Amino acid sequence: MVNDTTRLLGLDGLVAERVELDVAGVPVVDVSTGCEQARCCPQCGQRALKVKQWTTTRPRDLPVGGRTVRLRWRKRRWYCPTLGCPRKSFTEQVAQVPARARLTSRLRQAAGAAVADAGRTIVQAARDHGVSWPDVAAAFAAHASTVLPAEPEPVAVLGIDEVRRGKPHWIWDEQAGSWTVTADRWHVGFCDLSGGQGLLAQVEGRTTAAVTGWLTARPPAWREQVQAVAIDMCTVFKSAIRQVSPHAVLVVDHFHVVQLANRAVTEVRRRMTLTQRGRRGRGSDPEWRMRNRLTRSAARMPGKHVDRLIDTLEALPTAIGAPILAAWNAKEDLLDLLAIARTQPNREHVHRLLHRFYAPCAASDLPELHRLATTIETWWPQILAFLTTGITNAGSEGTNRVIKTIARDAYGFRNPENQRLRTRTATTRRHRGHLNPA
Ligand SMILES: [Zn+2]
Repeated sequence: MVNDTTRLLGLDGLVAERVELDVAGVPVVDVSTGCEQARCCPQCGQRALKVKQWTTTRPRDLPVGGRTVRLRWRKRRWYCPTLGCPRKSFTEQVAQVPARARLTSRLRQAAGAAVADAGRTIVQAARDHGVSWPDVAAAFAAHASTVLPAEPEPVAVLGIDEVRRGKPHWIWDEQAGSWTVTADRWHVGFCDLSGGQGLLAQVEGRTTAAVTGWLTARPPAWREQVQAVAIDMCTVFKSAIRQVSPHAVLVVDHFHVVQLANRAVTEVRRRMTLTQRGRRGRGSDPEWRMRNRLTRSAARMPGKHVDRLIDTLEALPTAIGAPILAAWNAKEDLLDLLAIARTQPNREHVHRLLHRFYAPCAASDLPELHRLATTIETWWPQILAFLTTGITNAGSEGTNRVIKTIARDAYGFRNPENQRLRTRTATTRRHRGHLNPA
């Protein structure tokens, strides 16, 4: 019964009878049913004896040896032998070609895996496999549901971060005379920062309820195993964790603190140019030309560049140069404080550096520095937790990069549920063993 062509084709339950080339040179494989089970009624399991009719189906299949082949399966429709069986009649089916299927299971599986595991877009996978867009989308969803774990494994360090979904939409409000936001859609992602499981889940919105909702849906034992949670400086996440996992250590990493300090420097620079020069900065202003260097860490710049930066600021009119220098110094003091993370700093050392940052901020009359110091004070327990544990939310930020790449490759998503599924399969590829070149 088993011939060479059948072995080459490798479709269980189907026997290759003959291969001929059509006018375009495409191999057409005539197959017949080679499986006894196909004769049994799917409802009652009885073996049928009487043929109702013969039909021919042309399920699409994977290429053989790189060549597209066309299958032609001549199969029977049987009468069910059991009296009173609701099926009355049934068509032959095998695992690779279920009844009414227009694609073989392995083609469907390959198209779904191309999207979920190989990082192809739906359009690319559809083109590669000669399948329609909706078929690949459905194949992807089916494949994703089998490969993604239903429940995440225990996580020691959890990262929570928000990522914008699509673009915010604005309309002009005639009565208020201002622009108002009509749509600003967000996803909150939960990321495994210690075990490498990647993105565990995403929920819509960025409210406390959204975060607590996902966390309370996990078993209590799972929540108890979370020892630390890394967040950005967002009170929504803070209060959510306080409610659901009060025992977990909250950590704010240096990335967002540095961002905040740099923003203060930029705000001071802009305000000084505007108030002293009466216009926005331009290329002839030394402080505008050095705008990027001001937000770079001095520790990562050659010494002579730092000297030149300070010289330029001191050469500026005092009303412009002095406040910018004060803001830059405050930023650098904060960077020095953050640099002692992961060095097991002792308490005195931490407090000396913190005081060195606070004192000039308090003495200064720049509201930007007061605001920066107040924020640092508000989040100090979480920043201190970063200095002692060295935990960062970089894993979540890396995940966000993947999320954005997927969204751009897909030219945006209409359906947020599909977006979350695509995002999750893409961000768990390493954990699922699909990024290992070996
Ligand atoms: Zn039956």
